[in-house]
Amino acid sequence: MERPLYPSPYMRITQGYMMGTHQDSYAIDEAGSDSGIDYINAPFTGVIRKIYTNDANEVWLESSEPVIYPDGTVDYMTMMFAHDNDVSNLFVGKVINRGERFYEEGTKGNASGNHVHMECGKGKFTGSGWHKNTAGYWSINNGKNPTECLWIDDSITVLDSYGYTFKKIEAEVVVPDTPVEEETPIVEEPTDSDLSDNSDTPNTDTSVDNNTDVVKPKLIFTCKSDDIYAIELKAGQKLYLE
Ligand SMILES: [Zn+2]
Repeated sequence: MERPLYPSPYMRITQGYMMGTHQDSYAIDEAGSDSGIDYINAPFTGVIRKIYTNDANEVWLESSEPVIYPDGTVDYMTMMFAHDNDVSNLFVGKVINRGERFYEEGTKGNASGNHVHMECGKGKFTGSGWHKNTAGYWSINNGKNPTECLWIDDSITVLDSYGYTFKKIEAEVVVPDTPVEEETPIVEEPTDSDLSDNSDTPNTDTSVDNNTDVVKPKLIFTCKSDDIYAIELKAGQKLYLE
């Protein structure tokens, strides 16, 4: 399951939520690395559900599967992006993969400078996707605080978080299911008592060299060549190596 990643590689939030033109909404404005036009990556794998070109080229992206919210909640997520100057490359039903560049900053819809206005909504796309809020602005349905929806990781350069704290995706430690072949078996040195007691060993060859001072171990593994060998041992089994 995916963790929705903050969609700009450079976090520079220039307007927070519940203020200015974001009254009564959890919208934030993301302006990227500089005043130019930066790109936006898909925070999750999703499908475009609506494009509204009459205003600010708003695009709604709905997650294809439930995603993991920073508090551990698992649910679908829908995001709305606005101000891209040209969305002719997008269409309703288009599938966008997580991390794919799919949207750009812009000024469409009377934005004063290049940025992306974005809002997170909990759950799937509903109704017309948005509603006119109490402040008279159009806001995504089921809007939710972006810090409670989006994660960051080491790929995100935080230039200005606007004082917000986003939860970080920690690198996951990969534990193999089965031992790797190169694993070195524990070698138990033969002792005199082991060598004299052959009652638990099917191989009862106790022959010794003519040189009676040398007692050979009963099981001898001969390497065919210099290499790494894997040996599976059951509990209590002994391995003698020459
Ligand atoms: Zn905005």
